[in-house]
Amino acid sequence: MRLFWLRALRSAAPPRTRCCSGGTQGEVRLRFAPSPTGFLHLGGLRTALYNYLFVKKHGGSFILRLEDTDRSRLVPGAADSIEDMLEWAGIPPDESPRKGGLFGPYEQSKRLPFYQDAVQTLLENGAAYHCFCTPQRLELLKKEALRNRETPRYDNRCRHLTTKQIDEKLSKKLPYVVRLRLLEGPQSFKDLVFGWNHHNVASVEGDPVILKGDGFPTYHLANVVDDHMMAVSHVLRGEEWLVSTAKHLLLYRALNWQPPLYAHLPLLLNKDGSKLSKRQGDIFIQYFANSGYLPEALLDVITHCGSGFLGHQMGRTLTELLEQFDLERIISHSALIDLDSLLDFNRIHLARRIYGTETRREMVKQLQTLLQEKYKDVTFNQDYIERILMLRKGHLCKLTDLLSPDYSYLWIRPSVHREELHKLTSEVAEIGSLVVRLLQDSHNEISAEMLNKELRNHLQQLKDTKYSVSMKLLRKIISGLESGPSVAEMLLSLGPQESIARIQNALSS
Ligand code: GLU
Repeated sequence: MRLFWLRALRSAAPPRTRCCSGGTQGEVRLRFAPSPTGFLHLGGLRTALYNYLFVKKHGGSFILRLEDTDRSRLVPGAADSIEDMLEWAGIPPDESPRKGGLFGPYEQSKRLPFYQDAVQTLLENGAAYHCFCTPQRLELLKKEALRNRETPRYDNRCRHLTTKQIDEKLSKKLPYVVRLRLLEGPQSFKDLVFGWNHHNVASVEGDPVILKGDGFPTYHLANVVDDHMMAVSHVLRGEEWLVSTAKHLLLYRALNWQPPLYAHLPLLLNKDGSKLSKRQGDIFIQYFANSGYLPEALLDVITHCGSGFLGHQMGRTLTELLEQFDLERIISHSALIDLDSLLDFNRIHLARRIYGTETRREMVKQLQTLLQEKYKDVTFNQDYIERILMLRKGHLCKLTDLLSPDYSYLWIRPSVHREELHKLTSEVAEIGSLVVRLLQDSHNEISAEMLNKELRNHLQQLKDTKYSVSMKLLRKIISGLESGPSVAEMLLSLGPQESIARIQNALSS
């Protein structure tokens, strides 16, 4: 069994050729590797997006790999939801736990034999060793370091065990972990965003555990084994992993594998520079999806605050982001996100969707369903819904705004009380008849601007009612509201027939 896996491990390593910095042509394969210890949040979506853009730019494969070896912290439903959210955002993976692919399985918990075989290789070539230190001893080391105001680190004691001592302990079935023997000296590498990095891990850390007591690998080992076996060409991940890269390179060296190229993405922070906390409920993508935000608005807001694109204009779609993206445009400054502007981003993208014929049709259908759910017995004509969308585009922040009480007049007639109208003016009947005539005479194509002008021309001639009062009266009659869109726009939204019917009802009430 072991031999089989070992062979599989070695033969799965493809000849490594690369495009971009490597200069030669080869398949570009990038992975997004979240841990399902939580749901997808803005930071994760941004990492996934940059991976996706790079892959699409260079014609390669985008992989979703779930790093689920920390079994105690798994959150039920997170794994599925992460893949759902990538699809919702319009950046679906080409290979994933659900889609499968030639390099699967795509969940680390299903890949244990690969890690165990890598560990075997490392033990055989002396790059790793068994460590039998008890938790109590490690705790003592830690306490002592803290007492001396030093950073706790393992003292590498088990490095020096003889083969005989190890065999004895193994035969006694003493619990153990496997540690990587850190080599002295810096592991220099050129990060594609942060430039040269010369981190000397051995000078600040003790030998790290690569295989835990329960037989599960730690992040570092699993990450390296999988990136190699999945033929990952470029690793694009958050800046927080930059310091771990030296450790990863030591593992590549010990396994005699060629590492991928690395590009670390600068941090995504709140606009005041504080960390985006996963405890802030409103950073999860599921929340945005459920709250009526459009995926393209979310992609726009998370890229607008950072680098990698041409300029910083608002309103870019995924296609435009793709056209403008260039890894070389990413700079190492943190990206400060202004979530207060998200509604504005959504408004712009909603208007773009309403503007496009195909996308408008989808919006109409979506709104029709929502309306049907809210106003059970009323039926809504698609042309009417379309007209409303066209008139309100640029004002609506979310499609669901149209379900708010302020817009209910569009879908149901308001109840208007005669006394309320007469409190405003004694010329209710004159104003009503005048506007009815105006609507009967106006042609279908009249714009809100023209209708507004006509209303002003006619209503300003009244003796006893100020123009603003006439507007208040009309707004009340047709919508039951005190404020809102212009009266002309309201009349146009409802159409002449319905507007006339509402005015006549009010006059006869
Ligand atoms: N599982 C790690 C995370 O949660 C992946 C880091 C990497 O991309 O190497 O972000």
